[in-house]
Amino acid sequence: MKTPERGLLLVVSGPSGSGKGTVLEALFKRRAGLFYSVSATTRAPRPGEVSGEQYYFLSKETFEQEITRGNMLEYARYCDNYYGSPRGPVEEKRAQGLDVILEIEVQGAMKVRHNCSDATLVFIMPPSIEELAKRLRGRGTESEEVVRKRLETSKAEVQTAGAYDYIVLNDEVGRAAHDVDCIITAEKLRSQRYVGGFLG
Ligand code: 5GP
Repeated sequence: MKTPERGLLLVVSGPSGSGKGTVLEALFKRRAGLFYSVSATTRAPRPGEVSGEQYYFLSKETFEQEITRGNMLEYARYCDNYYGSPRGPVEEKRAQGLDVILEIEVQGAMKVRHNCSDATLVFIMPPSIEELAKRLRGRGTESEEVVRKRLETSKAEVQTAGAYDYIVLNDEVGRAAHDVDCIITAEKLRSQRYVGGFLG
């Protein structure tokens, strides 16, 4: 049997409240062959969040052990908590030919840029800081203090968008998902991916 072509590694970042989760949901509905990498975190689950679905919720000690064992493809500290992408499933799914999506913040994205030369980085840009604040407060899951901290982090994150390969404006979810879909298609058509030669 022919070995499947290695899947893409697509990093998707965007400030908290940029709507990147909603864009990815829409993307999964329109495109097959994707695998969403479930991250590990030390932050407390929000109401309705289940370990193994949105995140693997780990203690600080367990998370640090996983780092020491080399089991995190990347990790970062964000707003006083650890977040990281377990390495095993990413390698496994890519080898099976699935395109792996990492929904991660900026520091982690820069580590992936450095460590995985074939990764594609996409930044989801919110339409404005005002809209971001509205979405964050509207979610109602964080205290005002946490919202303010996240807004400050978001403003800094927007400044790093130029380090990504693509910027997708999320003023309309359907259009933004379509743009990410097109990016994946384009990346899969890159000439460097034709490892076996042409018309052979
Ligand atoms: P939240 O607490 O709102 O779920 O996530 C906070 C931030 O952490 C978001 O920007 C999210 O994309 C990011 N994040 C989630 N998982 C990971 C991960 O595995 N690694 C890194 N570096 N950031 C992550």
